[in-house]
Amino acid sequence: MTESAVIFNIQRFSIHDGPGIRTTVFLKGCSLNCFWCHNPEGIHTKPEVLFYSDRCIYCGECLSKCEHSAHTINNNTHEYNRDLCVVCGDCIQFCYSDALELTGKTITAEDVFEEILKDKDYYASSGGGVTLSGGEPMLHSAFSISILKKCKAENIHTAIETSGNCRWSQIEEALPYTDLIMMDIKHLDTDKHKSATGVHNGLILENAERISEVNIPVIFRIPVIPTVNDAEEEIAAISGFVSGLQQKRKNKFGKDSAFLRLQLLKFHRLAGDKYRAADMQNRAAELPDITKERMSELKKCAASFDIDFKE
Ligand code: SF4
Ligand code: SF4
Repeated sequence: MTESAVIFNIQRFSIHDGPGIRTTVFLKGCSLNCFWCHNPEGIHTKPEVLFYSDRCIYCGECLSKCEHSAHTINNNTHEYNRDLCVVCGDCIQFCYSDALELTGKTITAEDVFEEILKDKDYYASSGGGVTLSGGEPMLHSAFSISILKKCKAENIHTAIETSGNCRWSQIEEALPYTDLIMMDIKHLDTDKHKSATGVHNGLILENAERISEVNIPVIFRIPVIPTVNDAEEEIAAISGFVSGLQQKRKNKFGKDSAFLRLQLLKFHRLAGDKYRAADMQNRAAELPDITKERMSELKKCAASFDIDFKE
């Protein structure tokens, strides 16, 4: 059976989503709604039109192509009405100033794999491979597993970036074809987790425990978000939890244990344009910055635990 899913990007020559040079496939749809998300176009499952109003030159091409009257221009003000738009994409190819963009397309696992294979030589020479990201790749587990299987058959290193907020069976089925798991742990306090991400953390922490019990390399990551988890006690709580998981893994697998690391990621607000273009509220816009010095202090706090710490 040909598996398909909606993706919003295939990024070739990526160097931030795992070791070496990678192709990162971004799947659309996420069960979390983190208010600082830097891929807001990955939250909703369906394709969407992004409208960058500041790029519009009021040429009117999109008005004439749209059969649903979703675009109107009056006195150099361009209104795009999402309620009228059926996301057919007809207007987008005629916008020569890149003010309109269709994000999300349905694609088969075969077609993604064909794209992945183009850079196979680079993966081999750089120790890289393929990363499935999102959104949440495990919400489309049949599609994701189909890609992972094909990669393994070609000896391509595979990684998944997951929020962990999915059924364990969805992760478990992917494990035989996965070389590295990258998973966020955002807060140990379940109510604070819910207020920041829209969901409680019970399932995520359960899945983190289960992942530590299988011998696959894993990097747990803390996205450090001002007002959410940028206090020492919050970082210490997560670090202590991860240190406990590492110990369990060592007890179970001894010297053959695959690595289980912790990494802190600095908050950034690069997605402001995308929030505007998708008509989504950018709830992180007013957050204070987090300084390099503060990040160093928090990293020091995390590294003070018995833990494999990744800079
Ligand atoms: S995507 Fe289709 S329906 Fe939506 S504005 Fe463009 S032409 Fe109209
Ligand atoms: S086609 Fe593009 S530039 Fe022209 S009016 Fe539409 S959005 Fe603006």
